[in-house]
Amino acid sequence: MASKPPKGDPVQDAPKVAEPKRSAAGLTAIGHSLRMAHQQMGVKRTALTLLSVNQKNGFDCPGCAWPDPEHRHTAEFCENGAKAVAEEATLRRVTPEFFAEHTVADLAGRSGYWLGQQGRLTHPVYLPEGGDRYEPVTWERAFDIVAEEIGALGSPDEAVFYTSGRTSNEAAFLYQLFARELGTNNLPDCSNMCHESSGSALSETIGVGKGSVLLEDLYRSDLIIVAGQNPGTNHPRMLSALEKAKANGARIISVNPLPEAGLERFKNPQTPKGLTTGAALTDLFLQIRLGGDQALFRILNKLILDTPGAVDEDFVREHTHGYEDFAEAARAADWDATLTATGLTREDIEKCLRMVLASKRVIVCWAMGLTQHKHSVPMIREIVNFLLLRGNIGRPGAGVCPVRGHSNVQGDRTMGIFERPAEAFLDALEKEFGFSPPREHGYDVVRAIRALRDGRAKVFFAMGGNFVSASPDTEVTEAAMRRARLTVHVSTKLNRSHAVTGARALILPTLGRTERDLQGSGEQFVTVEDSMGMVHASRGRLEPASGQLLSEPAIVCRLARRVLGSGSKVPWEEFEKDYATIRDRIARVIPGFEDFNARVANPSGFTLPHAPRDERRFPTATGKANFTAAPVEYPELPKGRLLLQTLRSHDQYNTTIYGLDDRYRGITNGRRVVLVNPEDARELRLADGSYVDLVGEWKDGVERRAPGFRVVHYPTAPGCAAAYYPETNVLVPLDATADTSNTPASKSVVVRLEQSTTD
Ligand code: SF4
Repeated sequence: MASKPPKGDPVQDAPKVAEPKRSAAGLTAIGHSLRMAHQQMGVKRTALTLLSVNQKNGFDCPGCAWPDPEHRHTAEFCENGAKAVAEEATLRRVTPEFFAEHTVADLAGRSGYWLGQQGRLTHPVYLPEGGDRYEPVTWERAFDIVAEEIGALGSPDEAVFYTSGRTSNEAAFLYQLFARELGTNNLPDCSNMCHESSGSALSETIGVGKGSVLLEDLYRSDLIIVAGQNPGTNHPRMLSALEKAKANGARIISVNPLPEAGLERFKNPQTPKGLTTGAALTDLFLQIRLGGDQALFRILNKLILDTPGAVDEDFVREHTHGYEDFAEAARAADWDATLTATGLTREDIEKCLRMVLASKRVIVCWAMGLTQHKHSVPMIREIVNFLLLRGNIGRPGAGVCPVRGHSNVQGDRTMGIFERPAEAFLDALEKEFGFSPPREHGYDVVRAIRALRDGRAKVFFAMGGNFVSASPDTEVTEAAMRRARLTVHVSTKLNRSHAVTGARALILPTLGRTERDLQGSGEQFVTVEDSMGMVHASRGRLEPASGQLLSEPAIVCRLARRVLGSGSKVPWEEFEKDYATIRDRIARVIPGFEDFNARVANPSGFTLPHAPRDERRFPTATGKANFTAAPVEYPELPKGRLLLQTLRSHDQYNTTIYGLDDRYRGITNGRRVVLVNPEDARELRLADGSYVDLVGEWKDGVERRAPGFRVVHYPTAPGCAAAYYPETNVLVPLDATADTSNTPASKSVVVRLEQSTTD
């Protein structure tokens, strides 16, 4: 029988610390998956859902965006996938009675973990102006309220339409269509906070803002460099691909400030060996300083240039632009500055170079550890330089592999969820639907928060997600949200963003991926695009958590009809009734989706074209792959300060907290911990187990404080510390963002640690 949600809160944050693990997954992961699944769903539902997730005729895991292999195992999921499914398919319910019992102020005092554990939302609810709690509301009335507030705006640009990466392709296409027919490009999304730096760097250098690697490429590679990524927790099925690549002869270099269990050894529960010894993964671990990756790849490029015959001159001549300027800049790379920036030894780097020179096919994978720094865009450009030098783009077994976080975050961007849409996309929309979409660029996440803070935005509408917890500068963001006239969240579960409201607020409960979606023309399926550009169908199997839920597409269609009225040029009713009609339009508007319905009928789906991978054609401003020559940057650290990265625990997915343990790092029953290198701790006189306040320091002179963190002596790179978000997002200044991409710089926050006054 599924268990009840935790009654009391705050759930005691009393961390216990043990030795970090040296391997990931194994029998323990199976145990954890089944225990958490049973707690939320009971036995029967656990079997039903976990045997359908990621299956060809099943539903797509609402966790990360790791692709599905052609051959699916009976259990085609990882521990964190099981947790994501269990949390969505939980038998726990948040009903109107719950809201009658809990005021918004009470909810605001609860931990994110407690809120998330209460279960699935069952009814649309409304917080009236001046009210202290949500009350039930009909869908019609809810859409009226949104129409009232949007109607009262001076301009459509006073509304913001946010998207979290769980939104399906069909819902995302409709959502951008609605916002644009309304007249705004204010379409920020969670990409702005994660891989925007990748998109910016790749669009400029190779002409496509997406990875060029497919699963098969990983299996055919000679060398895989995994930089600024912790796949053991954030993309666990990637470990199976790395294991297979190793079995095929590949070597692995991991570049990370933290020694992560999942990169050291993988105990694949699908194999006998996995259930015993497991497979070693990393051949060379480079424990780099936060933000030192650009310097590392720059010196590698210098050394490659200095090695006779190491450059693929034919490729460089035929397919690239800007080589001379780049080569001059690279040859000027300085060893001393490099060793300072990276914290690595010359021997480390030369070992790495030997592995690179011994490899014909090289892939570089990365995640937030590279994208959330002030200089992330030039950092990723330097990786592209590194791959171009030896022709490792558009060759089987080689390429760029930014690994996306949310299950359909890449799909949403492909569908037009972007505040800076391409002219060609807007032209295609105009031709297809006969209305003139706005051409002025809209707000990304950081600009949307500024607009809410400054009163330039008054209506905030979120399709999924937990905006206030995912965003930086928590106090500023929450105050900005409270300035809005109306905040609306389309959600499956309760989270902090529901307790940080505008003058009026709505929570609109929607179907989850695991649930059947019945519309006028019958049962519907949606589609998603994974991190490698493969598009496939997702069909829910469970009865909806309540008869009051609407699907995301239905919510957008009904909202659009209510707000835009009969003057709208878009057939919203037809779209709501039959999603195939949405896909027919997508096929005509978005390149690569021709014949969409026919091709997605293939149980494995289809792969979107990628000109650099498929044809070594680079749709850039120069028509070539662009070398770049940016100056090398790295974070400077004042004496007595540490460089902090915000990160996830193993019991967490983005801002969703599944539990209070971070098993691989040896931490249980608590989240307010800060990982500090023992040498740094000795210098700062910080005993293991003592409590400190983390105080963020930035050029604006504002003191940002996160109180009451337990110091954990941990083998981080010297000078570098780590702590979990969203608890430490309060330390990340709103204006501390990456150049060009405007992504919050959450991986290099200068902090001082003060003996805590709260423990
Ligand atoms: S690797 Fe990602 S997509 Fe796959 S089951 Fe795990 S969380 Fe889900």
